[in-house]
Amino acid sequence: MITLDAPVWQTLSSAGNDADKWLRCLLAGEGDLHENIQILAEDISHQLSYYSATAYVLPHLAAFCHGLSPKDKVFLIAQMGAAIAAEADCPLSPGTEPFLEFEEGLAGLCRETQHLLTDPALPRLLGNDPDLGQQFALAALAILGNRKHALAMYFMSGSCWEEVAIACSCGWNDETYCFSDEPTHLKPAEIDTWDGNSLTDEAVWFHGLLALAEEEDISPILPYVYGDCVCPACGRQEPFWNFFDRFYEEY
Ligand SMILES: [Zn+2]
Repeated sequence: MITLDAPVWQTLSSAGNDADKWLRCLLAGEGDLHENIQILAEDISHQLSYYSATAYVLPHLAAFCHGLSPKDKVFLIAQMGAAIAAEADCPLSPGTEPFLEFEEGLAGLCRETQHLLTDPALPRLLGNDPDLGQQFALAALAILGNRKHALAMYFMSGSCWEEVAIACSCGWNDETYCFSDEPTHLKPAEIDTWDGNSLTDEAVWFHGLLALAEEEDISPILPYVYGDCVCPACGRQEPFWNFFDRFYEEY
């Protein structure tokens, strides 16, 4: 963890270039807790971009999160998912200081998130506020699951999880493939019921968390995104995520 008086903070970017200011307020307990968390989260996740301040903020957030109530932990983690997922767009180089800071912060937030999953209060905390529950499930995906998948989910939030951009290696692509138009080229996966504990199958626990939040936007498309896609032009069948990745890499 790099202390807030280290010179490096002067060189770090965020949307408002003042992540250190809001982190200082948060850690010092100045102002409203939730408001500080929201402003800091927006500062490091604006337009789903990755900012260099994110890696340095995360270890402080993880340590701070440890001392919060379960309710405030859920709130903090829910707000930080997009900033963490954004790293998937420009992965940090292993061994560098930003990489090590990011990993340290992520490890701490992993522990906090995992503890919350088995907290008896979690179903109530998520079920009471479906929007917060949805954001917490997305953040859990960014923290405990595949960050590329989480970033994809944040991208799709722009169409309220109705449309997606996909491409095949044969050249076929569709920038606005619609899930609700009888997606005949998608082969849905069977997603088992979550036991409320295991993290072995991402589709299962992510779906389980969304179910706790009684979420209805993302849940219906999960069998498709964790299933296969069959190209309408050449008939190639591959995991949906391959079609998704290809569009973002090539178009
Ligand atoms: Zn094809």
